[in-house]
Amino acid sequence: MTRQLVGTSWKMNFTSTEAREYFRRLVPLVADITEATGRDLFVLPPFTSLWVAREELAGSRVAWGAQDVHENLAGAHTGDVSAPMLVDLGCRFVEVGHPERRRAYGDRDGRVAAKAATALSCGLEVIVSVGESRRLQERDARAVVLRHLGAVLGGVDAIVLDRVVVAYEPWWAIGAGATHAPFEHISAMQLAVRGWLLARGASSPRVIYGGSVESGATAALLRQPGVDGVFVGRAGLDPAEFARIAHAGLAHAGLD
Ligand code: PEP
Repeated sequence: MTRQLVGTSWKMNFTSTEAREYFRRLVPLVADITEATGRDLFVLPPFTSLWVAREELAGSRVAWGAQDVHENLAGAHTGDVSAPMLVDLGCRFVEVGHPERRRAYGDRDGRVAAKAATALSCGLEVIVSVGESRRLQERDARAVVLRHLGAVLGGVDAIVLDRVVVAYEPWWAIGAGATHAPFEHISAMQLAVRGWLLARGASSPRVIYGGSVESGATAALLRQPGVDGVFVGRAGLDPAEFARIAHAGLAHAGLD
């Protein structure tokens, strides 16, 4: 069975000093989430706090990674960060294709595909964000999501697909003022992504949901068919709330 994955991206929040405080609060709160619970955790801080993540999270239950990466391994790319730099800082994960990157930096599918391929070639696990930009009927949303997948992951070998996590994140369900998408819609998209990955030879597809996840809804979300985990934005900025989300639905959860 696929291990459930619960992660958060801080986006552009927290200095490295604040990051250390966050990690020191979070680590004891999730120390009981063991191999046996079958749930993996990750945090994606800004680049400037990855070194703190390495210091504070090494040996803990929480993996770390970055929110983006350049498609080239090195070179004249002012302000960018390469996959080998992330590997050097102990990152396990990197996200590509988040809607905010697509909107603000013009990251289209071709560039997202190149970023994913480079990160995979460096041994990282890649979180590929896909989702429709506005509310659509299930059939149309599925077509958009599968088109993104084909464009971004169509060239990836089956064996490497097991290092890919797909985050289904409908743009309209993300950010302040939004609420998570309806469970039926989420489940239909997650299962479509899962089917796509299986058809291309993935042996243990991981498809997580992102978009206004908070602790109250997480246990139910994780019970929806096709949901292998959750990807959290705003709610993850509070370590206690992120710990509650991480424990949601676990039988022994003291925080649930
Ligand atoms: C996101 O932007 O990926 C996200 C899930 O944000 P939020 O949880 O704040 O909607």
